[in-house]
Amino acid sequence: MFIKLLALVALVVLVTVGVLAANKPGKPAAKPSPGCDTMCTVPHKKTAKGDFEVVKSDAEWRKTLSQDQFYILRQKGTEQAFTGAYWNNHDEGVYVCAGCGATLFASKTKFDSGTGWPSFYMPISLKALHTEKDTAYGMVRVEVMCGRCGGHLGHVFDDGPKPTGLRYCINSASLKFTSAEPASEKK
Ligand SMILES: [Zn+2]
Repeated sequence: MFIKLLALVALVVLVTVGVLAANKPGKPAAKPSPGCDTMCTVPHKKTAKGDFEVVKSDAEWRKTLSQDQFYILRQKGTEQAFTGAYWNNHDEGVYVCAGCGATLFASKTKFDSGTGWPSFYMPISLKALHTEKDTAYGMVRVEVMCGRCGGHLGHVFDDGPKPTGLRYCINSASLKFTSAEPASEKK
């Protein structure tokens, strides 16, 4: 009886594994996407400092960044929830990297996540960001970095709203908000 049960359990496990394997895409998504898709949660390969367009020494970064910005952008720190400048900002405009000024997120993709950090469901473009697997603190997360200077921005999770289902959880200190020009607003 016990053996039969064991065999049954083994069969169920095998079938489940088989189904999961069958559902896996055969090749990584390589086609360009106009918006954001699952590519955003696929970590890019580990990069060296020199892989980014903007490379500065820590001493140079300290000259242009505040203490908080340096701690978060360059030392992968995290600001306290509900303390940053932008978690509750609802103005229209764009968010650029506080380190290098690269345009990262648009206000129209920002949503209230309730986490106390600015949250977006997609970046301005996939190229704007660099992502890497982050296993710090016993968690497996996907770190989001500025694609231009490699500054740490936050993490991306797959529990976001439609249309992408992604939640880019970003530190306010990593961003600088710029209001939209009234002239560029569509009526
Ligand atoms: Zn940057």
